[in-house]
Amino acid sequence: MPSYDALLRDLRGAIPEIDVAGLAGAGARPAIIDCREPDEHAQGAIPGAVWIPRGFLEAKIEKHVADRAAPIVVYCASGNRSLFAVRTLGELGYTNARSLAGGFTAWKRAGQPWEMPATLRADQEARYSRHVLLPEVGVAGQQKLLASKVVCIGAGGLGSPSSMYLAAAGIGTLGLVDDDVVDASNLQRQILHGTDRLGTPKVESAERTLKNLNPDVRVEKHRARLTSANAIDLLRPYDVIIDGADNFATRYLVNDVALLLGKPVVHASIFRFEGQLTVFPANGSPCYRCLYPEPPPPEDAPSCAEGGVLGVLPGILGVLQATEAIKLILGIGQTLAGRLLVYDALATKFRELKLRRDPKCPTCGDGIDRSTIPLIDYEQFCTRR
Ligand SMILES: [Zn+2]
Repeated sequence: MPSYDALLRDLRGAIPEIDVAGLAGAGARPAIIDCREPDEHAQGAIPGAVWIPRGFLEAKIEKHVADRAAPIVVYCASGNRSLFAVRTLGELGYTNARSLAGGFTAWKRAGQPWEMPATLRADQEARYSRHVLLPEVGVAGQQKLLASKVVCIGAGGLGSPSSMYLAAAGIGTLGLVDDDVVDASNLQRQILHGTDRLGTPKVESAERTLKNLNPDVRVEKHRARLTSANAIDLLRPYDVIIDGADNFATRYLVNDVALLLGKPVVHASIFRFEGQLTVFPANGSPCYRCLYPEPPPPEDAPSCAEGGVLGVLPGILGVLQATEAIKLILGIGQTLAGRLLVYDALATKFRELKLRRDPKCPTCGDGIDRSTIPLIDYEQFCTRR
């Protein structure tokens, strides 16, 4: 049996290498594979490199580089282990793989750019492991969620499930806008709150529930009703707006402010046994006013308190809102933008209606300068649910 040193010497003569200058100056960049161990990778890596620890190389290389003739450069810490990795690639049929001479150490020493890879704390790795296992989310996606800011208008029926699932998912900052206190009639559906919180401001009660669910989450409490005077400042810091408002006045205001600010809105409404859901995208078309240009006169609007609502209904719609928000943040899948989902709980049916941008829409129509959209405080004509 040859010694390790002898084996290495033989390999170095047989395995093609590339030096740092050669890789840095390569016109069309080859696929770069980082074959180091997790603790080494966590200390810094070459930007754009795919990290496949040496032990997983055979199993994972094909997923990242399918073309056996594609140029590949493999690096480790000092350029030894990568020789073995390139030999393995050769055995798998890869014909154009090279080892980075001197490895990451030489790369760094030459002053080439490197970056800290996306990593999670040990407790976060455990908490979010089922997200990280999804290639569509991964560590980078989880970090995106942790860095994101979502605001829920209302900490009630819709705001309860949406904020709870968003907190559990690791949305880093959750804003809650609600001026109400917990009432016994809320508890049939507003699961953020509990019997021991009667009389407590909903934003306080919500913070307790959400922080207990996930201490990673920063809860920003806005104990206020959204008005034309506070809406812009209040909503501006957030990436996604979840509209869980129970009244037309707030829905119009949220729509108009979101258009001004260029923020996406995940909209839902519930009534009796039916719920509706859609996304008004960041570019603002179609918007809520394409659907309903003006609010109905107060005497025609259904009173929520009288109308009643099945307690689980906001649960379903609120969870769908959280799902859409997470997709918007991760940039995955297809959102409900341009589609209105209607859920009938009695028939257990989901219907989908196409939403079209109205060229005559007062807020997103042709020729409208969105920076001049007037903010209107319509008369409140529906009690909270
Ligand atoms: Zn519109």
